[in-house]
Amino acid sequence: MPLAKKSLKNRLMNYKYYYTYGLFDVMRKREKSLLSAFSPETLHTVADCDAERCDCLILVSEAHPVTQDKEAGLVLVDEKNFAAEEMAEPLRVLISACEETCAEKILFTSIYRTLAFQSSIYGVNPFAARPGESEHHSGLAADIKVDGYAQRRFIMSGTGKWMAKNAHRYGFIIRYPLWAEKRTGVDYEPWHLRYVGIPHAELIYRQKITLEEYLETLEPGRFYRFGGWVISRQTGNRLAMPQNAQSIRYSADTRGGWIVWGKERPSCSTLS
Ligand SMILES: [Zn+2]
Repeated sequence: MPLAKKSLKNRLMNYKYYYTYGLFDVMRKREKSLLSAFSPETLHTVADCDAERCDCLILVSEAHPVTQDKEAGLVLVDEKNFAAEEMAEPLRVLISACEETCAEKILFTSIYRTLAFQSSIYGVNPFAARPGESEHHSGLAADIKVDGYAQRRFIMSGTGKWMAKNAHRYGFIIRYPLWAEKRTGVDYEPWHLRYVGIPHAELIYRQKITLEEYLETLEPGRFYRFGGWVISRQTGNRLAMPQNAQSIRYSADTRGGWIVWGKERPSCSTLS
């Protein structure tokens, strides 16, 4: 829900959850500068066959609305919900890891939404964004609940707390945290998971920043290292990566450029 529309009652409700359940995340220390910039010795052009497109870093928001329904790349993940194919398998892994630990059945309340469907709930569901501005149009967001714990009550469940603390290990972020309401412009939504992929989710979580802020930290044309990964934001049609990068993936960056990332193969120089 856009912040401007939030009533005082809504705000007080949110603070109840903030103090009772969300405090660990609000108080959580922010880790700074996890990305270290470097200059690769040798670069090579990434061939199509060496890389997999994975548009998990696109922005859909008030500033970046979509104008068309997604026509391809959707897969069914339960009896009624479609998800972007990039997210389907990571979502299955995340849900089963959480259900195994918390012993609560997780239900999807919403994943992919068409523009027409968003129009039908806008103004009816108080949390629904304007048509075109919902991340659900990308198929990369999933709203979840467990029995008796939906929407803001979700954070009161074991599953809600587990997701807040662990979803990043599986490539997901709580896209609209309570501490970032002013920065995202969206009300706290502990149930709204957004797939951004590994390692980006861990960087966003540990640095305690929003997806927008994460994308801003990546300067075009530069290379960064984090935990065995190489990450780079690039413009143009020829993507380049260091010679030793493997499992390369790339995502559109919503500005006509790309985010490229891959695993660094360990150096053999220490072997004799
Ligand atoms: Zn949602």
